[in-house]
Amino acid sequence: QPVNMVDIINRVASLFRPQAKEKELTLSLEVPRDLPSVYGDPDMLAQVLINLLDNAIKYTPPRGSITIRAMVLEDELRVEVEDTGIGIPAESLPRIFERFYRVDKARSRELGGFGIGLAIVKHIIRAHGGKIEVESTPGKGSLFYFTLPLAEPASP
Ligand code: ATP
Ligand code: MG
Repeated sequence: QPVNMVDIINRVASLFRPQAKEKELTLSLEVPRDLPSVYGDPDMLAQVLINLLDNAIKYTPPRGSITIRAMVLEDELRVEVEDTGIGIPAESLPRIFERFYRVDKARSRELGGFGIGLAIVKHIIRAHGGKIEVESTPGKGSLFYFTLPLAEPASP
């Protein structure tokens, strides 16, 4: 079914507002009002954002910022979740989408979690014909972005 990602982004963002506020994190949205739809399961696509935002909040120290962006690039919808958090070492980047993989076991144990959030994200995005990628600099922050094919191809 056609899904409006703008609604999903707004819904998930408001779900996390209290948590962000508690950590004094700025949560901003840069999302155009009129984005074309994608095909998919709205609950699963919401789950993708929930897992990414959960990580962004968990791995960003107090008073940092998190930005969610959405845009159309060629024939795809691109959604980004960027944070100013602890970042991910380059050697770990190829593994973070694996089930049960967590950077730095000791530190992660404190923060809780099973290391499955990103594996679920990858699975859902692939099932929707999209791609998920990450860029990160330790100590500076991370940018996760995924693309999804548009429900209607853009007119020439
Ligand atoms: P779960 O999501 O199951 O509660 P988790 O958050 O540890 O546990 P994933 O969401 O799969 O697991 O993330 C895997 C690992 O990638 C994390 O343990 C963390 O080390 C790293 N990671 C994920 N997102 C970020 C982020 N935004 N900033 C820094 N590190 C991250
Ligand atoms: Mg997680």
